[in-house]
Amino acid sequence: MKITDLKCAVIGQNPVVRIVTDEGISGYGEVESSKPYLKPHVLFYKQFLIGEDPTNVERVMLKIRRLGSFKPWGSAVSAIEIALWDVAGKAAGLPVYKLLGGKIRDRVRVYNGGVRFPLAGQSPADYAENMAKMKAAREGFTIIKQGIGYHSQMLTYAPDLCYDELRAGGRYPNRGLLTERGLAHVIACVKAMKEVLGDEVGLALDCGPGWTVPDAIRLARALEPLNIMWLEDLLTGDYTPYVNADVYREVTQSTSTPTHTGEQIYLRQNFKDLIEKHAVNVVGPDPVDVGGLAELKWIAEYADLHGILMAPHGVLDGLIGLAALVQVSATLPQNYIAFEYPLGRPEWWTDIVEGLPDPIVRQGFVDVWDRPGLGVEFNVRAARAHLPEEDRDFFDG
Ligand SMILES: [Mg+2]
Repeated sequence: MKITDLKCAVIGQNPVVRIVTDEGISGYGEVESSKPYLKPHVLFYKQFLIGEDPTNVERVMLKIRRLGSFKPWGSAVSAIEIALWDVAGKAAGLPVYKLLGGKIRDRVRVYNGGVRFPLAGQSPADYAENMAKMKAAREGFTIIKQGIGYHSQMLTYAPDLCYDELRAGGRYPNRGLLTERGLAHVIACVKAMKEVLGDEVGLALDCGPGWTVPDAIRLARALEPLNIMWLEDLLTGDYTPYVNADVYREVTQSTSTPTHTGEQIYLRQNFKDLIEKHAVNVVGPDPVDVGGLAELKWIAEYADLHGILMAPHGVLDGLIGLAALVQVSATLPQNYIAFEYPLGRPEWWTDIVEGLPDPIVRQGFVDVWDRPGLGVEFNVRAARAHLPEEDRDFFDG
């Protein structure tokens, strides 16, 4: 089998990758909805793929893997890797999870991810009310994650909650020391949410990036009695093109509250320090940023060897991304906690992708399906209506 074309169309806001072969099999991958600008970057790799056998996934990846980097510049390579697995699975007549070593679970736990509700305000009562809505969501999540501190608007609640002035725009532009009042406000909001959840639903907190080491330690210690699932991205995180393992280690070693990072990190090599130094308790690569499914599986195995847990990122990965997350998560070792559940947005995405369970999430889990490849297909007739003018031929050939 040979690759004859690599196509990319921005459907809604998600760049969708299609690998076309000479045997009539196509494979798909999907990039986060926050990156519609990546289409030309995806197509850059076409020159390296034409004529290759897509079922030798690793041999194809050797040609393009080094031509990528931390988020957002690992997404194109990652989506191509996922599309290669989709082709390989379809060619073999097997679900991708079989090609990755087989599943060890029949259903995979997810956390709320894209299921969120607008906050009415930034007070502890507002956070409690919002958490009650997520707890009541029909998906029945057993873990819910909420943004706090610099990963939220929480510090706009009152003046003088942090020492530097708050900036607007860009991606998480704020950083620096909180005032005593600021830290107390964050802790009060977390306590209010925890009171709603009790011990029935786990609470994870996406915190930054932007915390200083002393504040991160104070926060983590103050929350110890609350049994928080993890504190994510306190120091570095989304769109941070480096890791800072030694600094994370200082925080992690100071507290029993678990720490988490890794959503923006590209390749196993960049997890080496985090894992070998025991710099965090949980790693959270996104399959569509880290380099793909095999890359994520390798990191999960290596983390497991070191006593580190795995909770993959994925909130903006769309429905093809969801299928990819289900396939790989079914195969991960028992350090797996849950992945971050992405929605199809806009909502018509659910009309153009076939093969997902209905409802997708039951009691906080997604059942693993057994169709070949990623196990989902475009309803081409319905999907064509959503193709941009310049990509009218996306499904042709
Ligand atoms: Mg995050």
